[in-house]
Amino acid sequence: MTIAKNLHHIKSNLPEEVTLVAVSKTKPVSDITEAYEAGHRLFGENRIQEMVAKHEEMPKDIEWHMIGHIQRNKVKYMASFVSLIHAVDSLRLLKEINKQALKNNRVIDCLLQIKIASEETKFGLTEVEVTALLASEEFKIFQNIKIIGLMGMATFTSDQEQLQKEFGLLKDIFDNLTLSTENSSLKTLSMGMSDDYPIAIKNGSTMIRVGSSIFGKRACSINL
Ligand SMILES: *Cc1c(COP(=O)(O)O)cnc(C)c1O
Repeated sequence: MTIAKNLHHIKSNLPEEVTLVAVSKTKPVSDITEAYEAGHRLFGENRIQEMVAKHEEMPKDIEWHMIGHIQRNKVKYMASFVSLIHAVDSLRLLKEINKQALKNNRVIDCLLQIKIASEETKFGLTEVEVTALLASEEFKIFQNIKIIGLMGMATFTSDQEQLQKEFGLLKDIFDNLTLSTENSSLKTLSMGMSDDYPIAIKNGSTMIRVGSSIFGKRACSINL
């Protein structure tokens, strides 16, 4: 019962306004079931096909979040059930999500990913780009998506000062985007993972994505 214990430990120390996404990528359905039986209903995956397979096997009251980088041609596979897409980083991708959501008669909630890390490999928009996207005429006509916040990934480092700086930057961008449109209203700030979520919460995170601290280490690198 270590998964249940880990979940309980993390949840009992979270402020009320912070939502925990249990990141189950690469982990078997038996692990997700243990978390489910411990009462958890919100899981994050970073590969669409893997999430689809798990969605089919697991009870239908689970909320599935797509937290990984997305290929546009795969959006259709998750459009009928995904409850939040975290890493939207272009108008073209939003357009595809809008199209697939419309086909399924849904409005899909999305977060825009902001690049805060110093590493070249991390995806995301700059503050200038996100501001322009939200103000664009092309964006405003999308009726089947809703932007409910921002997401970011800090640099993979143990340097607390750098983490503080990067999460602080994301919080500032979040606070500066006060504009609301019919299809956007920014309330959710998704930042913080197993190793850095306490510092993310100190900087205003409202949603943390935690994998290895719940399910144990994954076989490969952090992006697997
Ligand atoms: C894997 C992953 C996480 C969770 O990472 P842990 O270090 O295992 O908590 C969070 N966010 C994203 C985008 C991920 O890909």
